[in-house]
Amino acid sequence: MSKIARRKFIQLSAAAATGCFVQAGREVRADDLPHLSPDDPMAAAMKYTHDASSVDPATRNNPAAEQNCANCALIQGNDGDEWRPCQIFPGKAVAANGWCSVWAPKA
Ligand code: SF4
Repeated sequence: MSKIARRKFIQLSAAAATGCFVQAGREVRADDLPHLSPDDPMAAAMKYTHDASSVDPATRNNPAAEQNCANCALIQGNDGDEWRPCQIFPGKAVAANGWCSVWAPKA
């Protein structure tokens, strides 16, 4: 690697590391995030939908009633918000009334 390329690599690495620290110290806000699309390949794999009522309870792996993102253990953000971050879909906001096959009850 030439000296210039190495210098550029180090500069970019430092900038990337700084970005990571800034992100880590920043609270995740759903307002900042794009909405998760049910057509997203990961969302489709998890059977994500914006409307939990559209899911036939008989097709769920977990038999618990009243399943939606707002009462899932993996939801983040603030209660009452229409769109919230989710641990399964980093960088996207899910609908509070949504659902996916990873749904888990809050402890
Ligand atoms: Fe919604 Fe929970 Fe699935 Fe996230 S993991 S999309 S909060 S049901």
